[in-house]
Amino acid sequence: MRAILPPAMLGILGGGQLGRMFTVAAKRMGYRVTVLDPDPEAPAAAFADLHLCTAWDDAAALRQLGQTCAAITTEFENVSAQAMTDLARLTRVSPSGECVAIAQNRIAEKSWINMAGLPTTAYLPAERSADLEVDLAPYLPGILKTARLGYDGKGQRRVKTAEEARAAFAELGGQPCILEKMLELKLELSAIVARTSSAQLEVFPVAENRHENGILDVSIVPARIDAALAARVRDMARKLADTLDYVGVLTVEFFLLADDSLVVNEIAPRPHNSGHHTLDACVTDQFQQQVRTMCGLLPGKVELLTPAVMVNVLGDIWPAGGEPHWDVLMEAPNVHLHLYGKREARPGRKMGHFNVLAASVEDALEQAEALRDTLKA
Ligand code: ADP
Ligand code: MG
Repeated sequence: MRAILPPAMLGILGGGQLGRMFTVAAKRMGYRVTVLDPDPEAPAAAFADLHLCTAWDDAAALRQLGQTCAAITTEFENVSAQAMTDLARLTRVSPSGECVAIAQNRIAEKSWINMAGLPTTAYLPAERSADLEVDLAPYLPGILKTARLGYDGKGQRRVKTAEEARAAFAELGGQPCILEKMLELKLELSAIVARTSSAQLEVFPVAENRHENGILDVSIVPARIDAALAARVRDMARKLADTLDYVGVLTVEFFLLADDSLVVNEIAPRPHNSGHHTLDACVTDQFQQQVRTMCGLLPGKVELLTPAVMVNVLGDIWPAGGEPHWDVLMEAPNVHLHLYGKREARPGRKMGHFNVLAASVEDALEQAEALRDTLKA
């Protein structure tokens, strides 16, 4: 497929932090960028050439995007998959609306992962309350998750008994859900794939992820697992991308269980929070991969140049009317701070992250945790 080269106009649906980092990557390479996002203060708007500040389903804005952009991508899982499919009639779109639709619905996602021959936790689709009137023992203790629109642990309830599961279904508004068997996790891992339409593919080194309150807290790269296990993770991620004939950047989240078996947790049809270390630590970063794959260019090499630990900076640490102690980060010569330009700091809101680069992952982790605690204090 013909390569799209600078200064072509690229389009992105969604202007959050992922859209902002995509826009920076594209602009640095000499592309121009149009962002569609209804938020007048969308983080990506500060860097974009054009901000279409309209509703997600604004037909005129979508048409403009399709007619003026050489290629379009998304940063936002919950963008209408239909809009992606419609746009594909006007211009090059990646990932496909079909892939986005699978990733948007936990039921379709899990059944699709299983069809690709990869394991997930045991799950029960619960489209309506009657679906929970069966023997739930195989899925308990479990987590009831809304099938759609969940992120950062939102739309999830942990349940121990069938009664709790049925009550949680009502609590979540009676919308389609999935009941997942709760697994005992040894580690959480992720692998990010960049793949072109001619199946050229690179998989980033595996990240080890720690969550707090359902939100990613720290990513440690390389993950502290042996080489054979890391190779299994990357092979599984590659298999998913190949089976989907995926074009673009695909993230695969894994659970590592006590017996060292792996199950796929979920996929994201875009760059991922657990790949933010790539901005400073890899030959090519995940947003450059998004640009390259949408433009029909070979994915860049993904070697890790240095061990790295990424720490998320949430709105929780903002003092009333002030700013956190950025000086402790800015004065550390092996630390890179990335802020997303969000004006309002709210608890749980992702405001930025920092990457600590060090000779060993242990050194990076120790320094990262010390810096995080100082910032919080
Ligand atoms: P989100 O879309 O919010 O990231 P996830 O399905 O990834 O939703 O769930 C968020 C976190 O909750 C996971 O990273 C993991 O820590 C925990 N979790 C989710 N599902 C399970 C499960 N079946 N067993 C154990 N922990 C789980
Ligand atoms: Mg997740």
